[in-house]
Amino acid sequence: FLGRAVANFGQDGEISQWTGTFTDIDDFKQLQAQKDNFLGIASHELKTPLTSLKLYTQFIETSLSKQGDLKNAEVAKRMNSQIDTLTELVNDLLDVTKIQNGKIQLNESEFDFDRLAEDVIVEQQMTARHKIIFHKNEIGKVTADRHRISQVMSNLISNAIKYSPDADEIIVSTELSRDAIRFSVKDFGIGIPEDKQQKVFEQYYRVSGTKEHTFPGLGLGLYISSEIIKRTGGRIYVHSVEGKGSDFCFEIPKIKI
Ligand code: ADP
Repeated sequence: FLGRAVANFGQDGEISQWTGTFTDIDDFKQLQAQKDNFLGIASHELKTPLTSLKLYTQFIETSLSKQGDLKNAEVAKRMNSQIDTLTELVNDLLDVTKIQNGKIQLNESEFDFDRLAEDVIVEQQMTARHKIIFHKNEIGKVTADRHRISQVMSNLISNAIKYSPDADEIIVSTELSRDAIRFSVKDFGIGIPEDKQQKVFEQYYRVSGTKEHTFPGLGLGLYISSEIIKRTGGRIYVHSVEGKGSDFCFEIPKIKI
């Protein structure tokens, strides 16, 4: 059985009474499995129309640009970018179901680490207001899942952008320490309170926004990133000071054992 206690508060704000419910663990597991199953099917079904929509809006954007209708081409461009955001959310939901079913696969290949970081930065810079500064270190080649590592890099950089709305810069760096390669993203944003810094890597965990800002998201990016890094044999962590900024890093082995 799974117990759940709920506090009832009196008018003085003190707890006046506790009420409890018990749920059969088997029922709970079944519900959980149904929820995961639903998420998997729903996100899979959402992908097909999204892919078509993206193709149509890309076509419209190109046609409008060619016709010189720049005002409407700009509207189509914004539609495109909203479709990208939606696709990322759906992909995150799909990834979570894959992780839960143990079906996330890593396809390893050899690639240049700094080059990949550079590609990710160029892509992120296209839509970012911040200046993304890159301190590269000529790490050389690494063996890992190129696509998944680029996904983690994008996640960390887009979070740095999202959670530093009043800053102008983000610093990305790569470093080789002994046998490990380190990738880090430093921002000068809202930061994370110390007691929440470990929790941000948990599924669906989100720190609430600040007084001035609320931030959209599902709380899945860091969970997926940490699963990818763990499976690559590495680790992911954060140093952060609330109100000053965060430094998210991951390390992966340079040579696969
Ligand atoms: P999402 O951004 O969709 O909420 P993530 O899993 O990427 O999901 O992040 C989980 C939570 O960690 C965020 O909701 C936010 O509270 C916190 N967080 C992540 N990156 C940063 C950052 N660079 N600065 C401050 N808080 C962050």
